[in-house]
Amino acid sequence: MPNKLVVLDPGHGGRDSGATGNGLLEKNITLDIAKRVAARLAAYNVNVRLTRDNDTYISLSARANFANHLGADYFLSIHINAGGGTGFESYIYNGPVSPETSRFRSIIHRNIMNFLDDYGVVNRGEKTANFAVLRETGMPAVLIENLFIDTAKDAALLKDPEFINGLSEAITGGIVWALNLTAKPTTPAPTPTPQPTPAPTGPPETVSSWDPQGEVAKLKEAGFIVDDHPADAPLTWGEFAAVMNRLINVLNIKNNS
Ligand SMILES: [Zn+2]
Repeated sequence: MPNKLVVLDPGHGGRDSGATGNGLLEKNITLDIAKRVAARLAAYNVNVRLTRDNDTYISLSARANFANHLGADYFLSIHINAGGGTGFESYIYNGPVSPETSRFRSIIHRNIMNFLDDYGVVNRGEKTANFAVLRETGMPAVLIENLFIDTAKDAALLKDPEFINGLSEAITGGIVWALNLTAKPTTPAPTPTPQPTPAPTGPPETVSSWDPQGEVAKLKEAGFIVDDHPADAPLTWGEFAAVMNRLINVLNIKNNS
């Protein structure tokens, strides 16, 4: 099954700052959150596109058209509220919507509120509105209003990088849950480039004398190693210490004799 495509829509941008308050610009916060969500979603089997990934102005219709032309499966518009209230609310179109739109919204809303509850953020509810990006998009579309930029206690949270990171995680979690996304296999740590066996120094005829297993056998013969060990087996500190102590014992005996 091909990956689903999610379009994230950081509200406002460029000459349109969106709401402002307490030294904050809505357009900057929405972009920050959208980028964080996209980065987190990169760990999942899903395709993600942003309507903007920098500080540029894009009209509401252009945002909807972008998602429509891409054939996006889901659309999530990210905003910060203003007007003196407090809390979180989510929107879907106030006209006819698919059941999937309602389901997508409810899961996103619930997952974000699970996070916001810990901060005592008010749940303003699941709402409907005639917003252009919700009306003009041809796929399940949700718009979230994340706290109030012009309310001091909300703005304080919006200024807290830990909060923004957690909120982004909660939004991501909602998308992962709603779309039932599976994680990509974790990339294995890069295998270190095999190091060539150190070239033995000396004339070429001595090369054939490099015999790691023979060296191990010699130490065993001398009593410094008790068990059989493959020459390329890892050595523990315990084994190393045992060998050294056997050597020290031998040296002590020789010194004292
Ligand atoms: Zn906005």
